[in-house]
Amino acid sequence: MQSPRELTDFATEYLTIQGASTVGVSTTETLAGGPPSTDLGYVLKGARSAVTFALPLDQDKIIKYLAKEDHAAHQADNFRTGNVATGLAVGLASFWNQHGIPSYGVCSNTVYRPDTPRGMVDFLPDISHRYLAACSGVGWFGFSGNIITEKHGAAVLLGTTVTTAELEPTEPLPEDDKYCDECQLCRASCTSGLFDKGEKSTVTMGGKDFSYSKRKSYHRCDLVCGGFTGLSKNGKWSTWSPGRFEIPENDEEFMPALIEAMKASAPRPKISGGLFHPAMGSTRKLNLTCGNCQLLCHPDRDERKRRYKLLINSGVVVQHEDGSLEAVPPKTARKHLSEMGPERRATYEKG
Ligand code: SF4
Ligand code: SF4
Repeated sequence: MQSPRELTDFATEYLTIQGASTVGVSTTETLAGGPPSTDLGYVLKGARSAVTFALPLDQDKIIKYLAKEDHAAHQADNFRTGNVATGLAVGLASFWNQHGIPSYGVCSNTVYRPDTPRGMVDFLPDISHRYLAACSGVGWFGFSGNIITEKHGAAVLLGTTVTTAELEPTEPLPEDDKYCDECQLCRASCTSGLFDKGEKSTVTMGGKDFSYSKRKSYHRCDLVCGGFTGLSKNGKWSTWSPGRFEIPENDEEFMPALIEAMKASAPRPKISGGLFHPAMGSTRKLNLTCGNCQLLCHPDRDERKRRYKLLINSGVVVQHEDGSLEAVPPKTARKHLSEMGPERRATYEKG
């Protein structure tokens, strides 16, 4: 029988030889007192430990995505990396299961608890990779609440294997080494206004406090990151969404706005690629249109600024009748919409 140290070393090697840039281990003790999505027992009875890892995204594709030069390449890389994260988590779990150690591979994304007041649309994950990653030193919480890593910034996707094995926990990263200087470029790049400017949220895990900017209603991100709309307040740049539905000011207006925008946008031509998301059913696909808060957060402050400039000078996205997306100057985008017939136009903005 292998010792906790040997099992931990094995898991780390299993994941790093397949491309994980950082691996951390949390346990029921180091997660004690954390939010509901840190309850390892939710996915595996008798769970004692979790191995969480980060897989880096392709930085060149991110630059072209932020600059509105290439949507498809980053989207494909993002979805594929997520699937690799799920595959690695399941692979490690399967290895241990076959050696008599009950384990469970957590999906990288898009799995939501059914047993919440509104079920899936509450978007409460079975297990939060983010909390486990902060707790086990895979990365820090940035101001945005995204996990930021020493080498790749926030441009990583996370995966987790939960196991009944007793593993050696790893420490959270030292706060003094965290590169986030609260530049707030993540907040400036978010057209949905998800992040509070000053107020913080704090979670306690294993007696340690972890803080990040308070998030307003998550339906803000659903409306914008869901691809339904995404014009900046000054109208000079947008996300990759061709939608121009108004982005409300108050949290309580977001759910009705989301329902309305979902219905109105349904007849838009299909964008190539994408992902079937459980909350959208089997007839519509999710396409990445934002992720700005994550993708511009590079460890180097000058690079963050450069990416933010690329974004705000990238223009406004319109959609052509064949479904393709193009970034154009704001005036051209306005003309493009005003020349549409009323039915087609109603899929992008309210008359
Ligand atoms: S963009 Fe700036 S404020 Fe936001 S998480 Fe990154 S470093 Fe922190
Ligand atoms: S993904 Fe986009 S809409 Fe969602 S929080 Fe980040 S910047 Fe805001």
